[in-house]
Amino acid sequence: MSSIKIIHARQNNLKNISLEIPKKSITVFTGVSGSGKSSLVFETIGAEAQRQINETQSSFIRNRLQHYGVADVDRIENLNVPVIINQKRLGGNARSTVGTATDVYAPLRLLFSRMGQPFVGYSNVFSFNNPQGMCPQCEGLGFVQTVNVSALIDKEKSLNEGAILFPTFQPGGWRWTRYVYAGYFDNDKKLKDYTEDEWNRLLYASEHKPPHPDKNWGKTVKYEGVIPRIEQAFLRKDAKEYHTRKQALKQIISIQTCPSCKGQRLNKKVLSCKIGGKNIADCTALAIDELLHFINNLQSEAYAVILQEITKKLQNICDIGLQYLTLDRRTDTLSGGESQRIKMVKYLGSSLVDLLYIFDEPSIGLHPKDVQHIASIIHQIKDKGNTVLIVEHDPDLIKIADQVVDMGPGSGSNGGEIIYQGGFAGLKQSDGKTGRYFAQRPSFNKNPRKAKGYLEIKNATKNNLKNVSVRIPEGVFTVVAGVAGSGKSTLIHGVLPDFYPQATIIDQSAFVSNVRSNVLTYLHLSDALRKLFADANQVSEKLFSRNSEGACKNCKGLGVEKIDLAFIDDIEQPCEVCGGSGYDPEVLQYTYRKLSIADVMKLTITDAISLFPEPLFSKAFNLLIQLGLEYLTLGQRLDTFSGGERQRLKLTKELSGSGNILILDEPSTGLHPSDTEKLLIFLNQLVDQNNTLIVIEHNLDIIARADWIIDIGPGAGKYGGEIVFEGTVEQLLKNKTSVTASYLNQYLK
Ligand code: ADP
Ligand code: ADP
Ligand code: ZN
Ligand code: ZN
Repeated sequence: MSSIKIIHARQNNLKNISLEIPKKSITVFTGVSGSGKSSLVFETIGAEAQRQINETQSSFIRNRLQHYGVADVDRIENLNVPVIINQKRLGGNARSTVGTATDVYAPLRLLFSRMGQPFVGYSNVFSFNNPQGMCPQCEGLGFVQTVNVSALIDKEKSLNEGAILFPTFQPGGWRWTRYVYAGYFDNDKKLKDYTEDEWNRLLYASEHKPPHPDKNWGKTVKYEGVIPRIEQAFLRKDAKEYHTRKQALKQIISIQTCPSCKGQRLNKKVLSCKIGGKNIADCTALAIDELLHFINNLQSEAYAVILQEITKKLQNICDIGLQYLTLDRRTDTLSGGESQRIKMVKYLGSSLVDLLYIFDEPSIGLHPKDVQHIASIIHQIKDKGNTVLIVEHDPDLIKIADQVVDMGPGSGSNGGEIIYQGGFAGLKQSDGKTGRYFAQRPSFNKNPRKAKGYLEIKNATKNNLKNVSVRIPEGVFTVVAGVAGSGKSTLIHGVLPDFYPQATIIDQSAFVSNVRSNVLTYLHLSDALRKLFADANQVSEKLFSRNSEGACKNCKGLGVEKIDLAFIDDIEQPCEVCGGSGYDPEVLQYTYRKLSIADVMKLTITDAISLFPEPLFSKAFNLLIQLGLEYLTLGQRLDTFSGGERQRLKLTKELSGSGNILILDEPSTGLHPSDTEKLLIFLNQLVDQNNTLIVIEHNLDIIARADWIIDIGPGAGKYGGEIVFEGTVEQLLKNKTSVTASYLNQYLK
């Protein structure tokens, strides 16, 4: 029972592999992108563990749990209950804060309900999500949304001309009929000509039955002014239509701190209850290390247990380097790295043992200093008697493994095997790409490019920035470094574009795409491919389009069918007729170099390049290879890409430009270290074409090769926000104060 046994796994590209993973230890999975790490760790082990738990639930719960496919594996023995910690950010909900997400807020409420003066009630009244505790004006949100009348109303128009600028209130919309049939208004009169009475009635009247409505007026319908109507339908707590009209609402709503509670979310009675001069909202507004100090100074025999619990949880947050956050910070404003660590804290406090923890690249967004914090949490989780699996590229995390499983040798059909399994020391001697990378000595840039001019930022104070003024050299490759939360994104994404609106941010956000967008359409190669097929077979190009004659009639070319389930989100399954290709089976008789169009869509870039030597194709495919994306298939849907893959694909569009300011955010995300070298060549090409390149990065290989470094810190949050260092790598290595310098020195030793 001391190991998990996986027998004959074949999911995706896995080559019928079997392995044993020791329990109560840390196993790190390495290998180039597409080698099969996720297929093994998430889609086989994670999915099977999840499925085995689901089997024990009632069918009602089972239906509501996420549907994992059944893994393609003969058998897995000795699985534990899984906890999967992925890179998804904590949800976008105004009611979720660092305090609620880490479970610190609950014992703090308890403390106030016991120790607070005066006594106002049980611990639940200190919750801003509880009607008895929440501020009545903002219903516990801390802010109020008000309708911006000048954005909602076009006074130059009449009701019939569409004066109310909001869906459903527009001519023909059902809400519009309430105003034009009410019998109150001349529907052709421009609103600027309304009397004060008419204006107030249109906008603000409270609910009533109009005395002389038009004949079209519904008998039971009531009249209400536009503003209270919008507030009622869209802005109240739990308003059903909020989400359906989010975009339109953005145009007409302004958000202000709630005047009644001043953003503290709670009602006056609850806020009057204090301990040591502070109410609960004052406490949650303190930086976590200051709150810890405050709690430590409270002396009470009677409440020692609660105090201890709060102290322990706060200490955990400090230990992972998030002491600068406040408990009242909304979780939807945290960075990806901050979110992931907040999720981890919650599990640190858990007393459950013998679980299977699975982490997906926990180093993302983290400076080497932060990575040490993460390593220490992972050790603690293991020491409690849990098994830890990590998919990771970061050398500092690979080193903490009790055991490394290296996958490869290549990607896609060239991968799916285990190249090495054993300790880190042995990995360096192994003959895979990972082993060879670790056997090499890293180097740094000794001949940096000279600036052609400077971009200047003056006196920036956004978020934690402390009146920062900085010059960014033009025409060179600059890396912005610093610990998580130090202010890198605030400076580069938040402030720089205010000074230089022409800057292009190439980020990891989703493409504007539909389910028909794939790698080929992104590269604008679909037309050329269709032409090759049409010419070879002397038929129409349209036959090879899934938007046109070539579409499978069953799924209309989508390749999937949606199954509508009553209670849960729709799920998709491959179309039965075309098997997921989206093409009409008739079309597949036409081939090009022995392959049907559906076969071609399944080719990886590596395989496709020999089949399509034409310059148009080979140029685009070579770019993808340079960016470490050779394992993608031509038909892979854009909505299946990870953030790192998206950013690298977007880079392909920049290669032709010159004189641009390009901003990248951690382009090394998800890249195997052996691919970083290729990425660097690509980035340097962009600079050689006379672009200014600014990259936020933690990867020491990339920092070491920059022309210019801007290091922000020294710490995170209020302890950061200053320029610690600016200069070349050679100068950085001599700097005694920068944390980045000390890690880089160790690394290059
Ligand atoms: P890694 O995690 O090492 O980057 P993956 O396990 O994601 O690699 O992918 C291994 C191979 O399996 C790749 O060739 C990938 O394209 C393929 N693959 C991944 N997911 C799917 C899927 N849902 N359907 C078909 N092939 C897939
Ligand atoms: P980095 O990019 O270096 O990780 P950020 O620029 O994201 O750091 O954050 C700098 C500081 O500003 C941190 O204390 C962070 O918590 C804070 N911060 C970032 N975004 C927001 C926001 N939307 N609201 C309030 N504080 C923020
Ligand atoms: Zn309020
Ligand atoms: Zn189909």
